[in-house]
Order: sequence, then C-alpha cells, then structure tokens
Amino acid sequence: MASDLTLNESDHDQLVSGRSPWGGTSIRPPYKSLSDSFHIDVAVIGGGITGALAAEVLTARGLSVCIIDREQPGLGSTAASTAMLQWEIDRQLSELEEFYGFERASATYRRSVIAVHGLADLITTHGIACQFQPRSSLYITSGPTGAHELAYEYDLRRRAGLQGRLLEHPDLMAEFDIDRDGAILSPGSAEVDPLLLTWGLLDIGIKRGARLVNASAVRLHAGGAHVTIETDGPYEIEADNVVLATGYSMPGIDMPKLHRTLSSYAIATAPQAPETLWRDGLLLWEDTHPYLYARTTADHRIVAGGEDDETIDPQERDSKLPAKIAAIREKLRLIWPEADMRVDYAWCGTFGETVDGLPLIGPVPGVPRVYAAYGYGGNGITFSYMAAQMIGAMISGVRRDWFDDFALDRDGPPSKFTWEAEERIVTPPPLDVTQDGDIESVVPSSPVSSTS
Ligand SMILES: Cc1cc2nc3c(=O)[nH]c(=O)nc-3n(C[C@H](O)[C@H](O)[C@H](O)COP(=O)(O)OP(=O)(O)OC[C@H]3O[C@@H](n4cnc5c(N)ncnc54)[C@H](O)[C@@H]3O)c2cc1C
Repeated sequence: MASDLTLNESDHDQLVSGRSPWGGTSIRPPYKSLSDSFHIDVAVIGGGITGALAAEVLTARGLSVCIIDREQPGLGSTAASTAMLQWEIDRQLSELEEFYGFERASATYRRSVIAVHGLADLITTHGIACQFQPRSSLYITSGPTGAHELAYEYDLRRRAGLQGRLLEHPDLMAEFDIDRDGAILSPGSAEVDPLLLTWGLLDIGIKRGARLVNASAVRLHAGGAHVTIETDGPYEIEADNVVLATGYSMPGIDMPKLHRTLSSYAIATAPQAPETLWRDGLLLWEDTHPYLYARTTADHRIVAGGEDDETIDPQERDSKLPAKIAAIREKLRLIWPEADMRVDYAWCGTFGETVDGLPLIGPVPGVPRVYAAYGYGGNGITFSYMAAQMIGAMISGVRRDWFDDFALDRDGPPSKFTWEAEERIVTPPPLDVTQDGDIESVVPSSPVSSTS
C-alpha cells in the first residue's frame, strides 16, 4: 500500500519568539547543505532535542543515520523550553487513574521515572556539558480542597511505589519558607540547559557517523521497501525508516482528538543573590489554573513560566507577551517574595498538549516505516527520551504491549473527559505593564535565540 505524507511548513519564527537564556557561547554543531541523494538506514526529520535523542539511540544501535533540519538545530521549541526534566506528568496520577485505572496509570508514571533516570545516565555517561543538575520537585497546592486532593494523590503515589514526602503547611514553612497549604516533595527530577544538551547529543551522533544536513523535508512517499523523502532542493533521501521529530511543526496525520495546541510563556530574571533563592534548587510547580512553575539556573536566575493561552496565531501570541510577563512575575512574587523581579529574558512558544498528558509515539497509522515522536506538555523532554528509546526498539523489531498506551491512534480517556471540561486556561485581566519599566526592554521581536 503506497501512501504519501505532506509535511508542515511552519518554521521557527512561527512557533517561538523572544529570547531565552540557553546555549551560552557553545559551538553549534556543523550543519551542511544537502548536496547529494543517498540511501540511509534511518532519516530523522528534525534536529531539536527529540531528533538529537533519536539520533543518539539509533547510532548507538549501529544504524546509519541522517538528521535533516531546515533551520538551525535546537533553535525551535527546544530553545523555548524551560527544561525541567520531571517524571511527574502534567496529569496527576489520580487523574490518570480515573482515565485508565490504577495499574495502567501507575505503570505510566513509573515509565516516566525510568525515562528521567535514563536521560540522567546518558548525560553523565557521556559527560555532556549541559548544566545538568539532579533536582527534587515541589508540587504545591493552596486551600483546604487542594490539600485534601494532594493527600489523596500522595497516597496513590505511595501505592504505585513512587517516592516522595507529603508536606503540610507548618513543614512547608519551616523547611522551605513557602507559605502554602501543602506540597509533595519528590526526588528524581533534574534540570538542564536544553540547547547545550541537544548540541551535545548531536555531536555524539555526528562522531558516530550521523550526517546532519540542512534541508526541508517536503513530502514522504512510503509503502515499498523504503521511504523516499522529497526535499525542497533537487535531492531525495531514501531511508529504510523515518522518524518524525518535527516538534510542533506537525504533518497532516490523523492525530487523535486528544491533542491540542496552545501558546506558553516564560521569563528568566536577572541573576539573584544565591542566598536569597529557595532551598536545594527545587523545581517548583503549582496546581493553580493557569499554573506557575519555576526553577533556577547555574547562574542563579529564576526561570518561571506558565500562563498558557489558547491563541496560536504568532502575532497575537507575541502581542500578549508583556501582559503574560507581568502575570508570571506577580505569581512568582506571591510564591517567593524575596526574588529580584528584574527580567532579563522573556519568550513564548507553541505548546502541544494531550487530554491525558501523555505523548504520541510510534508508527504513523497508514504510513509504513514512518514513526512519530511527539512529546507534549511540561514533560516534553522526558517524553522525547522515551520516544527515542521506544522507536529505537521498534525499528529493531521489538514490540511491547505498553507501547500501545502512547500510540498515535490510542483511544484516550473516556469521552466525558474533554478539553471543554478543563479550566487550565484562564485569560488574565489586562495588566498595566508600564508599572514595570523594564518589561518593554525584554520583549523582543526576533525568534528565540541563544545568547551566543
Ligand atoms: C515555553 C515552553 C516551556 C517548556 N518547558 C518545558 C519543560 O520545562 N520541560 C520539558 O520537558 N519540556 C518543556 N517544553 C516542551 C519542550 O520544549 C518540547 O517538548 C521540546 O523542545 C520539543 O522538541 P523537538 O525537538 O520535538 O522540537 P523542536 O525543538 O521544535 O525541533 C524540531 C525541528 O524540526 C525541524 N523541522 C520541522 N519540520 C521540518 C521539515 N519538514 N524538514 C526539516 N526540518 C524540519 C525544525 O526546524 C526544528 O528545528 C516547553 C515548551 C515551551 C514552548
């Protein structure tokens, strides 16, 4: 059965804008124009964190690999990531339990734990210089209802064998100086600089013989013994298998109804006096709607984000950036009043989500030999690691029953759980951004770029 797949043309500046603090002065991977047609074992389309992880796994398996990117690898959504590597999924375990039952929900959470451990091992084994730090996370709630739900979530996690500690208000105040009704403190997460990680991984793949080429994949012709990738130039690539790691520039495949696209916003403050930061570099995240999350960086900045918005129109998204910055700063001030709120970086980008908070990984239905690696939401990078491992196994002929839990054509939660029932997006009232004289200076018009 022959089938064609047309790829999406959205480029980086449609998907992300602003400036993020990542990349430093690191050297970008060598990136050459496509100058011939050739055959390869696996073509990975997209050189962001997902493609870089896939290339690492596939080259480690001894396969010949080509990574195709039409723009500078890493400067898409990867550069917009706040790069908290959490095993806690955007959906609480209690929500997943409601969707899929306890066994499947807890197995999914445990796979996420394994993925963060695996990624940490990969980084340390190869000594990738990406400001990797193991971190605990603090999931914070407010109000009696929130505290009650948190206690239930904590019990469920214990039953699932997940590590953590429930903190009530007095402990939270005494240990962390955070004035909220409760929190779950969980070990086993981490933080990185996502660009340095991506470039480090690409470098490993290239040293193992992978080709990194500059081209736009326009169309795939599948159905025979290989897939032909038509590019925007005169050359074609023939591959035994193709991995779609195109980020939020997603092709017109029949995505399950459980997926939607939003915009998300983030800031990085000026460097803080280290003694004024919260303890242990915890990854903070709140259960409020719209939510706030925050982490620190190697140079003592606070990176905070959230304020998801339904708009996906790039101009409208960018026009909201000043108000979103102000809202994130205000929420950060409420949780950590000691912070120096001067903002050095601000950015925003397209953000994909699924109803169940789980990624879409595996064979593209109806398009033989083509695998999709779409990791969504706040666990995007954790899921990219998972996708690389799963697709590496699938290409080698390995099948596991649990792969179906992440399949593109999975059923998803029962139909009563819809986006309409969600309150995750609340449009904040307009804020007087002129109260913060320094905001305008960090609202840029150019795409997200590293500081180099
Ligand atoms: C504000 C924000 C905060 C986030 N915070 C976190 C977080 O804390 N933790 C976390 O884990 N995740 C987070 N995420 C999600 C995470 O950033 C993404 O899941 C991840 O970066 C996606 O990486 P990717 O490699 O799939 O996509 P990208 O980095 O966008 O890479 C895809 C690449 O594919 C290329 N491409 C696309 N189509 C083609 C084509 N047809 N031909 C050639 N090249 C093509 C593009 O040029 C691009 O370079 C966040 C996202 C946003 C926007």
